[in-house]
Amino acid sequence: MLARILVVEDNTANMELVCYLLAFNGYTVLQARDGAQGLEMAVRHRPDLIVCDLQMPLLDGYQVLSRLRENPATAGVVIVAVTAFSMPNDRQMVMTAGFDGYLSKPIEPENFVGQIEAFLPAELRAPPRDSDN
Ligand code: MN
Repeated sequence: MLARILVVEDNTANMELVCYLLAFNGYTVLQARDGAQGLEMAVRHRPDLIVCDLQMPLLDGYQVLSRLRENPATAGVVIVAVTAFSMPNDRQMVMTAGFDGYLSKPIEPENFVGQIEAFLPAELRAPPRDSDN
């Protein structure tokens, strides 16, 4: 069984791209359009990994992260921040906040799935692709 991945993203184009790439590679994808919906879906569906935008309505990515970490049911979920911020110390801010990883936009379609899979245990990953070397 491949990972179930929750994507929390308010930008439609990014949402579509991320979901397309993950689903194409066999992953089950859940979608949330803002931080509040993302939090609610994370608690209800218990995804294996969350791809989380930072700038979003209602709750931003940092608020989603802290509420998930406060809840024993979701405290251990892997959460990867995906953000358009690209200042040199953004990565440090994100990692200090407690995200498991950080990817910057624009998303690179040829690399994105592999970057996400690096955060998944082997048994939840898709089989190696021909394009992987
Ligand atoms: Mn956003």
